[in-house]
Parts: sequence; structure tokens; C-alpha cells
Amino acid sequence: MRIVVGQGSCGIAAGASKVSKAFEEEIASRNAPIQLELTGCCGTCYLEPVVDIYDDANTKKTYVMVTPEMVGEIIDSELHGKTPVESQLISEEDLDAQQKQKKVALQNAGHINPEDISEYIEKEGYQAIEKCLKKMTPAEVINEIKISGLRGRGGAGFPTWFKWNAAYQQQSTPKYMVCNADEGDPGAFMDRSILEGDPHGVIEGMMIGGYATGANEGIFYVRAEYPLAIERLQKAIDQAREKGILGKNIMGSGFDFDLWIKAGAGAFVCGEETALIASLEGERGMPRLKPPFPAQKGFWQQPTNINNVETLANIPWIFRNGGAAFAAMGTEKSKGTKVFALAGKTKKGGLVEIPMGLTLREVIYDIGGGILDDKAFKAVQMGGPSGGCIPAHLLDTPVDYESITETGAIMGSGGMVVMDETTCMVGMAKFFLDFTRKESCGKCIHCRMGTMRMLEILTRITEGEGKEGDIELLEELCERVKEGSLCALGGTAPNPVLTTLQYFRDEYEAHIYDKK
Ligand code: SF4
Repeated sequence: MRIVVGQGSCGIAAGASKVSKAFEEEIASRNAPIQLELTGCCGTCYLEPVVDIYDDANTKKTYVMVTPEMVGEIIDSELHGKTPVESQLISEEDLDAQQKQKKVALQNAGHINPEDISEYIEKEGYQAIEKCLKKMTPAEVINEIKISGLRGRGGAGFPTWFKWNAAYQQQSTPKYMVCNADEGDPGAFMDRSILEGDPHGVIEGMMIGGYATGANEGIFYVRAEYPLAIERLQKAIDQAREKGILGKNIMGSGFDFDLWIKAGAGAFVCGEETALIASLEGERGMPRLKPPFPAQKGFWQQPTNINNVETLANIPWIFRNGGAAFAAMGTEKSKGTKVFALAGKTKKGGLVEIPMGLTLREVIYDIGGGILDDKAFKAVQMGGPSGGCIPAHLLDTPVDYESITETGAIMGSGGMVVMDETTCMVGMAKFFLDFTRKESCGKCIHCRMGTMRMLEILTRITEGEGKEGDIELLEELCERVKEGSLCALGGTAPNPVLTTLQYFRDEYEAHIYDKK
């Protein structure tokens, strides 16, 4: 028998380490033939701590919201055939919510021990890089990604094959492969969970990207606020080196590749590629003018390809199953699946991975279980501070790049913050603008001063001191900040204000004219 305790950051925050310790002590005191393991987040953060028990036939039973006090009773049930307390087991409804999802980037998270390379290898791990190295040229690898239709999951949705090809075409060496794990949107935790739950999957994606572009060195840029992700990633790199999976002449192919981690200080702007490169080089993280693009002159002025964590986590699956299988999921222009961090006023907050094209209603109600306390849904914020809010009458919008952009929001990296009828939408816009104002690097005046002036206006409106003309002034500032900003942080900072003005203008007017 195996007992597996979910120990992603969400599980640990809910008490999983204490639960694991209690199992360890109970197993030792009974001298029971039970193996105790850990795994990453399986997505049901709202049910943490989650414990999976596998019998000798590998049949799984899932216990939820486990406390140290429940541990003895659970072991009694499992060892002596006592009937478990029903409320301790995962419900059919929660299992159904899982069935509506399709796990590609999250295929291993919550199923394997992220600290043990052999478990990744048992799940066909590192077979994708082997296939690429032994059977495919770099151009064929890039073409397979083109067939898959994979677009960057960090926010912009740029075709991955195009970026890889741009780096591949450069003659200058050395080249670099960078993983952007600087996830910074409030409410987003997709990349952290992937790295904590399946670090080898991202390492394998980096290796394939390195082979395709001609890079022999890869760098993980991970925000320092993700200590568990960094720790597990480092363990995974060390284990891959020990097994000869990273290093010189990998699998006898002549391809050399190694990886190192840079812990970033957590500046939101370092999610922008050129700011990330500046930070990697030891400079202050500020965006640089483009062109030259990173594929031409990136890290140390050498060709550099940068992909986000989730993008890379999809890569091994694509080579094990074929680009066409990935392209068969999703919509015409948005292929595959997308991971979302479902947060806010939802009943079942956590990590979900869905085929592109499911509607927002299906995600929020069928998977997320609807709104807390059965209140009315008001809006969902997508794309974090760069995105916008989508109101109730657009709940049937399909989740794909084009449809979400049409609403005024953006797909973004995967933050999905649900708001109920009690949320003040002007206050929400103020919250996100306060965030971007603080995170503005200050290089351009439109972003530096424009966001500050906008925040001042929003503050006085929410404090009942708004005046006639404030809405028009806000609209004008939104346009100026969008036009005059060098990078996407400033260029998209007005989006939460613009979408709330578009869909909830009456709330601004009520604050100003009715002093509500
Ligand atoms: Fe910095 Fe804002 Fe200009 Fe971007 S738009 S470079 S964050 S000041």
C-alpha cells in the first residue's frame, strides 16, 4: 500500500506537512507495510490537504481536507477494512469536475513524486528528448511544434515554432534557452504549481527547445518568492545530471545541454523578455528597445529563446503523442489546452486545465462549482493587471485567444479571478492599477506618471470625492498611457479601467454623482 500526501505550496499552507508527519509516526508505531510519498498539487486546492491511498492493485482512494487527527482512523479503514467516513472521501461531484478537464501540462502533477526522477521516467519521461535527439533534426522538431499549433502560454500567445525558428536561424553562438518562471499576476499560480509538481517535464521541454534552437545552456528565471519550486527544480536538475540526462553528449547524440537557476527578485516587469534578460545580466530589470529581438541579441547579446513554464510543460507531451494530437484539441486558432488558476469568489478554487474552447460558464460553474454562498456572478478578471474583466452577459464566451480578446480582456498567463455581486468594480480597477503603478519600472513618463494620475482619480472616486469630468479624464489618460509606453506593462495597464468603464460605467457614475 502507498499513501501519497499532496505537498504543493497549497497543500503545505493547508497543513499537509503536519498530516504527512502524522502518517509517518502512525506507520512507524504500527510497523505497517505502507510506503509514504509526496506529490505536487493535483488541482483541487480547495480540498487540501489531499491524501491518495493506493492499494496493492494500484486502485486509488482519495481523502480530502485531512487533518493529523484523522490519520489513525484512515489507516484503520485501509488496513482493517473499516468503512471510511464518507465526508472524508472525495465526492462524486468533485470527481466529475476533474473529468471535464484535460491534463497535458499538468499530466503528472499530483500523480508522481516530483523529487524522484525515476517516477518521471516511469511515466515515459525523457522519451521525448530521446526521440528528438535520435530521430529528428532541429528543423523537424520545429516543424512538429508548428503542426501542434502551440502558442506561448505566458500571455501574448505568440506561435512557439516561430520563436524557436527565429533563434534557430541565427548563426552566432553560443545561444541560450530561458524559461520565464517570473509569474507575477495577482491570483495566478499556474507556473509555480507546474514547477513544484512536475519539474522534470519543464526540464525536458527546455532540453528539446535547446536542441531545436541550437542552445547548449538553459536558464530558469524563477521568482525568489517560489522557494519550493526552486528547491524541487534544483533537485530535479541534480538528479538529471547524475543520470547523464543533462551534461555532455546526451544519450550518445553529441548534444550538450545543461541548466542553472536564477532566482529573480520578483519584479512584475521582469516577465517582459528584455527586462528579464537585463536582470539575468545583473542589471536593474528594465525593458530594452526592440529590435533587436532576444532571438537576435538576447542574453549577453547572443541569440536567446524565452518560453514560459506552461509552454515548455506541453512540449514532451507533443513529442510523445504527435503535434497533430495536440492540434486536435481546442479551437481553430487556439490549439491544445490551457491551465488556469481559478481564484476569488468561486466554490472550488484551484488549478484547472481545459481544452481551449470551453466557455467561461463551463469553467466557472461546471468545474469551479459556481459562486461562493450561491451569490450572483458579477465578472471574471482574466489576464491579471494587464487584462480586463468580463461581465455576466458574456459568460458563454469560449476560452480562446481571439474570443477573450474581443471582450476587452486578454487570455494572459492564466489568472482567472471570479467576482460576485458584492464586488465594487471601481475598487477592483483601483486594486489592479495600484499594482501596476507600483510595478512600473519608471523608464517612460506615460507609464510612470500616467498610472499615478489614474490611481489618484480612482482613489478619489472610490472615496466619494469624484467630480464631473473624472471619467473623461480617465479615458484620456488610458489612451495616452497605452500609446506612450515602451513595454506591455504600461501598454496594458489601463485595461482593467477600460473594461470596467465599458461594462460597469454606472458604478463609476454612482460613486461620483450619488456619492455611493
Ligand atoms: Fe517601464 Fe512602464 Fe515604460 Fe514598461 S511601460 S518600460 S514598465 S515605465
